[in-house]
Amino acid sequence: MARAGFEVIFFDCDSTLSTIEGIDALAARAGCEHEISALTRAAMGGEQPLESIYGQRLETLRPNRQAIAWLGNQYVAAEVPGARAVVAALISLGKEVHIVSGGIRQAVVPLAAVLSIPLARVHAVEMFHDASGNYTGYDASSPLTRSGGKGAVCHRVAKNRRAAIVGDGITDLDPAAYGIFTVGFGGVVRREAVQRRADAYVADRALTGVLEFLLTREEFRRLPPA
Ligand SMILES: [Mg+2]
Repeated sequence: MARAGFEVIFFDCDSTLSTIEGIDALAARAGCEHEISALTRAAMGGEQPLESIYGQRLETLRPNRQAIAWLGNQYVAAEVPGARAVVAALISLGKEVHIVSGGIRQAVVPLAAVLSIPLARVHAVEMFHDASGNYTGYDASSPLTRSGGKGAVCHRVAKNRRAAIVGDGITDLDPAAYGIFTVGFGGVVRREAVQRRADAYVADRALTGVLEFLLTREEFRRLPPA
């Protein structure tokens, strides 16, 4: 698979770098998983536009600062096998690695730290709290709360550079509209629509298989032995 080397690589977070879906995990913790997971599935499978359910889920959950710190720990504990090795390999080759997620930014940050991805390369949705840590709202101006938002964010970051995105969901294919190469990852959740429409697809449990599509042969040779 000899492609032109990508300069920028985006990763989705939920069910791509971590095996959990953040919102579902918060819902399970709060005991309202059934209503929330039905909404999440509808959005991820593409049956319902993201914006119609985004605020609805958060309004149901109202995640306080403590719940978000808990979720940050869960993301790290549920890291997908190979995630650290894949990101380290890409960084060692000089690639710019970003996380782009419709999830809660403050909860994604600890996982980014573990993966050595700088804060400025974490694109997710900021939650707002009062001085006591109670939920007061979310950044509704973020494109990541809307359908097509991932594409817009990736395009803005990548500019004219060669870029690829790795993700499990339908929204992770949005960047294709901007010429960004899409790698579907089915190691946590396999979605037929993603497998059909992505430029490449990896169904292994570990993330390591995505390197085959992200690197040229020459770049592979430059990797230190595992
Ligand atoms: Mg995902």
